Amino acid sequence: MATPTQKDSPLLTVRTPVPWNEVRAEQIQPAIEQLLAAAQARLDAIATAPRTYDATLGALDLATNELDYAMNVAGHLESVLGTPELREAYNAVLPAVSAFYSQILLSKPLYDALKELAVTDEAKRLDPARARYLKKTLDDFRRNGAELDDAGKKRMAEIDVALSEKTTKFAQNVVDATAAFELVLEDASRLSGLPDGALEAAKKSAEDKGKKGYRLTLQAPSYGPVMTFADDRALRETMYLANVTRAVKENPPLIREILELRREKARLLGFSHFADLATDDRMAKSGAKALAFVNMLRERLMKGFERENAELQAFAEKNGHQGPLEAWDTAYWAEKMRRALYDFDEETLRPYFPLDRVQNGLFEIATAIYGITIERDASAPVWHPDVTAWTVKDESGKELGGFYLDLFPRETKRDGAWMGGVVDRLPGTKNELENVAVVVANVTPPRKPGAPALLNHREVETLFHEFGHMMHHVLSEVPIRSLAGTRVVSDFVELPSMIMENWCWEPAALDRFARHFESGAPIPDDVKKRMLAARTFRAANALMRQLGFSSVDLSLHTEYDPKVHGEVMTHARDVFARFSPTRLPEQYAMLAAFSHLFGAAYGYAAGYYSYQWSEVLEADAFSRFKKEGILARSAGDAFRKDILARGDTEDPAVLYRTFLGRDPDVNALLTRLGVAA
Ligand SMILES: [Zn+2]
Repeated sequence: MATPTQKDSPLLTVRTPVPWNEVRAEQIQPAIEQLLAAAQARLDAIATAPRTYDATLGALDLATNELDYAMNVAGHLESVLGTPELREAYNAVLPAVSAFYSQILLSKPLYDALKELAVTDEAKRLDPARARYLKKTLDDFRRNGAELDDAGKKRMAEIDVALSEKTTKFAQNVVDATAAFELVLEDASRLSGLPDGALEAAKKSAEDKGKKGYRLTLQAPSYGPVMTFADDRALRETMYLANVTRAVKENPPLIREILELRREKARLLGFSHFADLATDDRMAKSGAKALAFVNMLRERLMKGFERENAELQAFAEKNGHQGPLEAWDTAYWAEKMRRALYDFDEETLRPYFPLDRVQNGLFEIATAIYGITIERDASAPVWHPDVTAWTVKDESGKELGGFYLDLFPRETKRDGAWMGGVVDRLPGTKNELENVAVVVANVTPPRKPGAPALLNHREVETLFHEFGHMMHHVLSEVPIRSLAGTRVVSDFVELPSMIMENWCWEPAALDRFARHFESGAPIPDDVKKRMLAARTFRAANALMRQLGFSSVDLSLHTEYDPKVHGEVMTHARDVFARFSPTRLPEQYAMLAAFSHLFGAAYGYAAGYYSYQWSEVLEADAFSRFKKEGILARSAGDAFRKDILARGDTEDPAVLYRTFLGRDPDVNALLTRLGVAA
């Protein structure tokens, strides 16, 4: 019920700039309850409204606008601040919100209203985007059980609520398990090989905890350098095993339940397994086709993969290693081999990637290819002092929207990197606002206050990647919320993000932003040459690892049956092993921390292959930039107009063909990786 204070709740109306700093945990529940009621009233009104586009489908498109906004804001704050209060408040509203969303697509009056709209004259004259929206919505209704009887619908809603709760718990367990591990070493004797930056960070981490010595954690900036550089093999083994056994007690029961719920849902809807349900509207079209794609790539890579593994084993043995390499050895020896071959150490690049220059360079590239400008908005409220706000303007000076960067790790912030849309612009409608997005990452922070943050090249790529997702959201010209920005099928959604990573590898682009943080000098030519040559080093292994994740994902969501294939953790380990350059330790349980598959009700479930699918699309799409110039407005404008601006208003295969003039070809990727036949 609305109380006087709640009237001013920052969560109730969609506002830009978003008042992040005004949101309190205790406002979440009352606001969400009020917005749920308002959204429900709008949905109810559709049933009795005239069968026009605006009164039915158009109204449906906007019915949850405020609720989505409030949930985006609350969910985002929960992810990046993670205070117990926020977590509790967010968890408290989740069941009701999930139940609400899932009952939309189960509502018979709504489904009937849309079916009646579909046979009107107006529906036959709808523009292509709105016609597509109508067809997709009816398909969504069917895939969500609109044709089921009452008992089936009830069960469907229960499944969605259970999935939402169990997957949230899964993700939180991973965060907790990651945070629970620490290894404090009294002195640096076991840390030989580690770069100075990693040593200092370990020392600072211990100090922050009031401890003496060096503190290692499973957070990427601590874990990565140990696995890559620590000469102490036993230390690497300890860290590796801690990492691959995260949440191994808490999460396997959740995995079993989640898989069973997804399987039950697919069967209720008449699909043979969850992967078929999940891929029904995607480019891949079926679980079998997705699996065939993964197997095709595995096949094409196998020769290169085996060659790389034999070369690494030989290199390690020549340099004193005895016996077969183990899982905790490969990153370490690969780095040594990379250095021997290319005389190139990833860490030597760090001084050339100060965050502010990388950021400016990235913005300049976006300006060059898309003609937009990006300006700092120092007055916009933020949720943490580390966060910066930015405004995106068109060439005409028109404000398209803005975004926030939250880039450094914090104890209670969620792991990884992601982009999230918060507000939609909906150009040309009476609801026209601004596109607003958040970009979150966990890159290496400054060594001390006032010092620049120096990134490694992978962190730079991550930043470019999430920026690409953000461009997809912010440069959307779609007036239909449900089809706007990144709301495209998951095997297409990584195209705009992955293509951005190419600019981290182009010499002409690198010279713009890769500059020494003290001298301002570009990366020396010979270093750059070796860095680019090293790009194909163990490229088959890198892609094979990804294919392993995809294969586990598709296996668990297609054929896997506990009665036939046995215990899920063992089954997953066996599949992972087919893609691993080394044998896997007995206790290997990466699945228990695989948040992509189990950290959201659907998330990337039966969709991890999308990354490799998109990589094939992106490598080939970038060939147009290569041809016309990597900073060419012609290619950039076309990419913006044909892909970024269009959202899901057209079949992605058609959008792709419009941009490139043909269908994607896998050879562009294989050539880039240096493994083309
Ligand atoms: Zn992505």
